[in-house]
Amino acid sequence: MRTRLCMRKLTDDPGNLLAPVFPAYRQTLIEGRYVPDIQGRYFAAVFHFGDWLRSSGIGMRLVRHEHVCDFLQNHLPTCTSKRHTPVSYTHLTLPTISSA
Ligand SMILES: [Zn+2]
Repeated sequence: MRTRLCMRKLTDDPGNLLAPVFPAYRQTLIEGRYVPDIQGRYFAAVFHFGDWLRSSGIGMRLVRHEHVCDFLQNHLPTCTSKRHTPVSYTHLTLPTISSA
């Protein structure tokens, strides 16, 4: 339960590999009228993905659909990170960010 509360508080991660796309992504969520709690969950998923990309040695400009699939299918099921996010949100979020 404590992990879920922490995820909701995440609002920014300026050192994240995907930080350059955060403003556009935030605007997309705002325009989509997502409530702040859901925005926080989506951002937590994106922060997690950015951390995973960095730890995997994948640069932002090199991100491909295959990386998203690898993250969702191979990393998430075994991840014990405190940034682990519900898979349903990650599925909804990452295709958007990978096409940004
Ligand atoms: Zn992880």
